[in-house]
Amino acid sequence: MTTLRVSRQPSGEPEIFHSLQGEGASIGVPTVFLRLAQCNLTCSWCDTKYTWDWKNFSFDDEVTALPVEDVEKRILSFDRRHLVITGGEPMMQQRALAPLVSSLCDRGFYCEVETNGTLAPSPEMVRGVSQWNVSPKLSNSGVDIARREVPGALRAYSSLENAYFKFVIAEPQDVDEALDIVGRYAVAPDRVILMPEGTERRVIEERGPWVAGLCAEHGFRFSTRMHILLWGDKRGR
Ligand code: SF4
Repeated sequence: MTTLRVSRQPSGEPEIFHSLQGEGASIGVPTVFLRLAQCNLTCSWCDTKYTWDWKNFSFDDEVTALPVEDVEKRILSFDRRHLVITGGEPMMQQRALAPLVSSLCDRGFYCEVETNGTLAPSPEMVRGVSQWNVSPKLSNSGVDIARREVPGALRAYSSLENAYFKFVIAEPQDVDEALDIVGRYAVAPDRVILMPEGTERRVIEERGPWVAGLCAEHGFRFSTRMHILLWGDKRGR
């Protein structure tokens, strides 16, 4: 039986819930979220450390292993045809994920996958996924470059027409690193999104205007973090 390691909500239920996409190219779209556990990076500002930081969180409390069929049933119970698979780093489980994505694709689902772009997608995943939200990490993540930039994987994503590249910007100079990656991997500007870093409303409000200014200057898209503005840093939103 193939299982997926799914994050748990504070109630203990698997983190499969309905809300609005809070950031990126489909911001505001009503969607089902599936949050998978575990990550291969350790970003200092990560707002989902409970998916991977086993020094500060309990794996047994935070993670549940669910058969793929159960995950699909829970997703279908929401009666929506839009899914965002997030994490953690979902692509760590892409082998178990591929049949789920394929089955949902056959049912007419629009499936988005959020990834840090360090693990290249399999042909099965490329076939089933409607939209890739690739978020390569910059030095502001505190992760060393050898771990956060995997050239083969970034080349694979940049070759996909349905892949957006979303950069988390904490300081104005961060845009130079984003420009460097965009140039080296030949990402079209209309597939590049800059988004302010922050898990507090006041930080997003302070950084939003100057990040938007950088977008206008370089011909990139802008994304705020709508869920933080609306609900704060709350799990299950
Ligand atoms: S890649 Fe994403 S989930 Fe992983 S540590 Fe960084 S921000 Fe958190």
